[in-house]
Amino acid sequence: MTNNKGLIVITGPSGVGKGTIVKKLLEGNQNLWLSISATTRLPRKGEVNGKDYFFLNKEEFQDLVADNGFIEWAEFADNCYGTPKKEVQNQLSRGKSVILEIELEGARQVRDSFPQGFQIFIAPPSLKELETRIRERGTDTEEAILKRLTRAKLELKAQCEFNASVVNDDLDIAVLEIKRLIQS
Ligand code: ADP
Ligand code: 5GP
Repeated sequence: MTNNKGLIVITGPSGVGKGTIVKKLLEGNQNLWLSISATTRLPRKGEVNGKDYFFLNKEEFQDLVADNGFIEWAEFADNCYGTPKKEVQNQLSRGKSVILEIELEGARQVRDSFPQGFQIFIAPPSLKELETRIRERGTDTEEAILKRLTRAKLELKAQCEFNASVVNDDLDIAVLEIKRLIQS
């Protein structure tokens, strides 16, 4: 695989704004490509198979694991999530910079297999604000929200493992900061 330096990992607690930030990073930047993950989670309202995620059942996901089809995979809040290998390799070999928007365990696996990659942690201004964002997004059940908040505390403790950490308080400032990090 070529251009491994072009592998950019974005990690941070659920609800911190990763998806919102990545959307802005991709706007007008033809050199960036966002990997579409596979998950066993059910689609949320409005999510499209093949665009937001590849929605798989547990058996299909396990088959891909057995076939060594993931760069990394992990369990998060009772569901499995993984980065399909083939298309990432294809985009990297074409010279694109690839963004993986993944949780902590996956980021750690990628760090082992692609040590030249660049890993950015997105932190919330506070846990209270994180909870507000998850609730106002309105996509998760109460049970899922509580699981995500418990996990968030663990993830926040790991931010020192990353190449850079950015607080998503003002969205535009956070996006500018991340663009600067990616370009440097
Ligand atoms: P993630 O992908 O990390 O789970 P989302 O991108 O879905 O998070 O964002 C969660 C919610 O927070 C969304 O409703 C989004 O509009 C909102 N949000 C994102 N960034 C900010 C910000 N800087 N200030 C306030 N709200 C934000
Ligand atoms: P959500 O269910 O909110 O879409 O995602 C839950 C968590 O899974 C988020 O932290 C998200 O970044 C992470 N995630 C999404 N895709 C992947 C993936 O392919 N691998 C891993 N390890 N985590 C992922």
